[in-house]
Amino acid sequence: MNIHEYQAKEILKSYGVRVQTGVVVDDASKAQEAAKKLNAETGTEWFVVKAQIHAGGRGKGKVQETGSNGVVLAKSLDEVPEKAKNILGGTLVTHQTGEEGKKVNKVLIAEDVYYPGASEPKEYYLSILLDRSKSCNVIMASTEGGMDIEDVAANTPEKIVKEWIDPAIGLQGFQARKIAFALGLEGNAFKEMVKFIFSLYKAYEGSDSSMFEINPVLKTSDDKILAVDAKVNIDDNALYRHKDIQELRDLSEEDPAEVEAGKSGLSYVKLDGNVGCMVNGAGLAMATMDIIKLSGGEPANFLDVGGGANAETVEAGFRIILKDPNVKAILINIFGGIVRCDRVANGVVEAYKKIGNIDIPIIVRLQGTNAEEGAKIIEESGLKVASAILLKDAAAKVKEVLS
Ligand code: GDP
Ligand code: MN
Repeated sequence: MNIHEYQAKEILKSYGVRVQTGVVVDDASKAQEAAKKLNAETGTEWFVVKAQIHAGGRGKGKVQETGSNGVVLAKSLDEVPEKAKNILGGTLVTHQTGEEGKKVNKVLIAEDVYYPGASEPKEYYLSILLDRSKSCNVIMASTEGGMDIEDVAANTPEKIVKEWIDPAIGLQGFQARKIAFALGLEGNAFKEMVKFIFSLYKAYEGSDSSMFEINPVLKTSDDKILAVDAKVNIDDNALYRHKDIQELRDLSEEDPAEVEAGKSGLSYVKLDGNVGCMVNGAGLAMATMDIIKLSGGEPANFLDVGGGANAETVEAGFRIILKDPNVKAILINIFGGIVRCDRVANGVVEAYKKIGNIDIPIIVRLQGTNAEEGAKIIEESGLKVASAILLKDAAAKVKEVLS
């Protein structure tokens, strides 16, 4: 699950990670008050107004309606409301949002942390993520902060340092120091960075995250180290342990069909093809997508109805697939292990009748416990549903209806 920058910064702060302080608002009329509060708290006289969307590249991105960037600097209290107004409610397009962009419902008013002082502020890159191939967490760091890390990785990979952390042992002092040293830090900034890395790692583990990306981490002109930006992805499978984090979910940032599927306990991913598929089990779903391709179709989606395929889940699956106008046929491929095929067949017939006017061909392949009874129920239902027991027959039928 992705969360917004302002939410991620709250989590980081609760673990003692220093962050650029900010106040989130959903209306430009509240922006000046937020800025005043920041001024009282931090003494800052300049502010940054930051669009809150689940995508990066906001600084260079443009709000369609006003031409404003997604991250802008306000050099006085009075400038804040106008700058917020130019972003709030607008559609922000960045290189990560696609052409259609994302609607901005909230902005973060933050203190300016790039103030002048004894040294120049300097941006760094820091991320922590799970390296599945090594069964370890990996910390990646670079002196090339503020830029797209993909570009740094492509053009100057030697500027990214990596340190693998064994989860059973945890982050060791020498590792944090190695990273701070590789970033060329010394003196107080070095110590601050080591502390920063430790707190950040604690936050990553404590929140059961699968990715933290802090770009940029800033060394201020007075040698403080803090997070200016924060992109956090929480492991969905651990969310049950974090009721407080669950509440941070912003459904307006997610695909409506995927949200609806989630409510019915289905895992659905929309794709661009023309054959809708409904399958139980992720592995079988992948194999089904392969067979659709082999028969000349393209899968319109991935849909795993899970272990208990019944009339309700089948109906929910049908409704979600049918919302996609590209779908020309539906292939239902269910393996009756714990769930019996006759029960699934009854579910399909029931759901089909209940939805009514389904005018595209449906091929049902039921295999496993009571497969024959299942096929019989489908065939005798009198509906425009074709049934198959062998996957290759099902594929042939898909091919037939597509041509
Ligand atoms: P992103 O573009 O979505 O990654 O958003 P960031 O939070 O990383 O901000 C983008 C850029 O805005 C940063 O790389 C900085 O250059 C700039 N920025 C962020 N905070 C401040 C600030 O406090 N003062 C100034 N002057 N610039 C800032
Ligand atoms: Mn950033």
